[in-house]
Amino acid sequence: MAGNLHAVSARSNGPEAIIQQLFPKATRIGAKLSDFPVYPVYQLQQLLGYAYESTDLSDLPGFAGKPIKLMIGLDAEGRFSGVKVLDHHEPVFLHGLGPQPLLDFVSQYAGHSLTESFVLGHKPRAPGVNSGTVHIDGVTKATVSVIIINDTILSTALQVARSKLESFALPPAARVRETFYEPLTPLQLFERDYLQRWQLERPAVERALGQALDSYAPFNQSSGDGELSTQLFSELYFSYLNAPIIGRNVLGDGAYQSLMQSLGKGDQVIAVWSRGPYLHSADDFKPGSVSERLGLAQQDLAIELRDLNALDEGQLLELEGLPEMERVHLFRIKGLAGFNPAAGSELRLNVELSRNHLVRDIASFSHAFQFPPQLFELVEQASVPAAKSPIWLTIWQDRWWQVAILLASLGLLTTLFVGQRRWVTMGAWLTRTRWMFLTFTLLFIGFYAQGQLSVVNIYTLLLALYEGFDITLFLLDPVIFILWSYTFISLFLWGRGLYCGWLCPFGALQEMLSWLAAKLKIRQWRISPRWHRRGLWLKYLLLVGLVSTAFASLSLAERLAEVEPFKTSITLGFDRYWPFVLYALALLALGLFVHKFYCRYLCPLGAGLAIIGRLRRFSWLDRIDLCGAPCQRCRHRCGIGAIRRDGSVDYDECIQCLECVIILHDPGQCVAALQRRKQRTSSPTPVPAEGPQPLAPRLSGLPARPR
Ligand code: SF4
Ligand code: SF4
Repeated sequence: MAGNLHAVSARSNGPEAIIQQLFPKATRIGAKLSDFPVYPVYQLQQLLGYAYESTDLSDLPGFAGKPIKLMIGLDAEGRFSGVKVLDHHEPVFLHGLGPQPLLDFVSQYAGHSLTESFVLGHKPRAPGVNSGTVHIDGVTKATVSVIIINDTILSTALQVARSKLESFALPPAARVRETFYEPLTPLQLFERDYLQRWQLERPAVERALGQALDSYAPFNQSSGDGELSTQLFSELYFSYLNAPIIGRNVLGDGAYQSLMQSLGKGDQVIAVWSRGPYLHSADDFKPGSVSERLGLAQQDLAIELRDLNALDEGQLLELEGLPEMERVHLFRIKGLAGFNPAAGSELRLNVELSRNHLVRDIASFSHAFQFPPQLFELVEQASVPAAKSPIWLTIWQDRWWQVAILLASLGLLTTLFVGQRRWVTMGAWLTRTRWMFLTFTLLFIGFYAQGQLSVVNIYTLLLALYEGFDITLFLLDPVIFILWSYTFISLFLWGRGLYCGWLCPFGALQEMLSWLAAKLKIRQWRISPRWHRRGLWLKYLLLVGLVSTAFASLSLAERLAEVEPFKTSITLGFDRYWPFVLYALALLALGLFVHKFYCRYLCPLGAGLAIIGRLRRFSWLDRIDLCGAPCQRCRHRCGIGAIRRDGSVDYDECIQCLECVIILHDPGQCVAALQRRKQRTSSPTPVPAEGPQPLAPRLSGLPARPR
């Protein structure tokens, strides 16, 4: 036995030294157990707890495709003694924000118990008050990484607790009886205890808070309200929807089937209705999230209830024959949580009320319950599926509205591009629309939703194709995933221009600065055609250099990708070590003198897009025979210099701003149209009526030719 134990000394290296930091009182650290990969930690003969490496229990990949390796300490009571970061590849903590925010983030778990509910990303409203809910502050700009780390810590700790801590061991698990069904009304479900009720009266709440409810703002303002004059504080009805006799009767057969099919393996659903002055979710509750008010626990272990966002807004799932409810949610319990629906459980309601702007009082209430045993059949624990629902799905649910806005904007953009021959005749209106879109791109896609694509995404994709493609890695960031998918498809239709001219936040920022330069009448530098042509190759050289480095050393390539100013300017909003800020500002300043300097000569991402864009199927930009010979108007007006002397478009450089086609369709601007008008007015033969239509290339008799 002694051979398996390490006496702790100051000279310890490897895991023991880190475990010692997690358990300062440890006198002995056992070797990693063979039946379950944890290190037992002792103070003399007393077991203090267990330490383990997260990668032994979870292979959840981080944002860079590699798991984040943590050493986690869990004491014998199921309380975190600490979390240490052993290894990670998260780009934002390696080269962006630096390691400190990551260390600060993981330090928040120490001292908290698995019996508490962990809520990520909410600031505590009343620090120091124990309501059974732990608020873990997220890290702005690293949302995906911290969601992954939080999931890794909690899911692995739960596995250790279930396996090693007696008080967390599960009783025999149960599964629903699929054939147990008969049509029942909500009232009958209630009478048979399939639908349960929990009433909380005002006196009980007042006793717990130590204050009359009238002292709190929502109550003292509505003393005349009939409902508040009753004793009711909150009335909750809840039920276990996986049981067919409940789910089918509450939802209807079709909705029940589709709900069950939409769940991950082992997932369970609890429906909660409520009415009264204090509902089970706050008015600002975000669909798809965890309610700060409501909790579930089994064997004192908190179990996450996350809104499924499965009901339409305002849909109440009427409980005919029972009091009219004000709010209802369907909450999902993850399969991995090990919730046993047949065992006794506790519903918790956290009451938080403010007396004024400064003082808030909190009290926590719980209600023990058990669903009727006839709903279930017992199964051996080993056969209970414990698959976890994928974390990418949780992230998509959390960011659903960002996804919705992005998809709607991409739909609009597609409509605009598909019908561009119609829209370009609207001239200034289309130009204004593009400026509005660029503003949206910079503010929403760039600064808010962090949707700036980068050459690093190209490395990740190429490496994934080389080492074995796993789409879940790319699904971790829904905004980037959607933008990449959309951009990739658009490359085969319109070339690189749709992304570079409409969707790139840094590109939009540069265009805005060019606009400012024009307003300030800043004199533009003339770059000779020879140097311009040479300069265009620079970005391709950078791309080749970066991609080949990525195959040799990903971390070096990630550091070299700092040639892109995106992380400094868009991702971190210039909040970074000054040399990075100076570099980004210098590039933007150059853009004041040379239109989109960075895009034209340096951007490796733009180069990569241009290479793939060569496979585009169509050349949508109309040209006519007079373009280039002799007319040069569009060429001079193209800010990016993507029109050749012969009038043809260089699609490798074109950003699809559509300005040249707007000119072509504008009878007041297109030189060819002006010339024809002049000829017609001097001709003795009758001329067709003036108007925009005859000047459109396809109608004017001038051959339109995409070039
Ligand atoms: S060239 Fe680069 S910076 Fe410019 S718009 Fe394209 S991707 Fe963005
Ligand atoms: S003016 Fe025409 S050629 Fe130049 S970038 Fe815009 S769409 Fe492309």
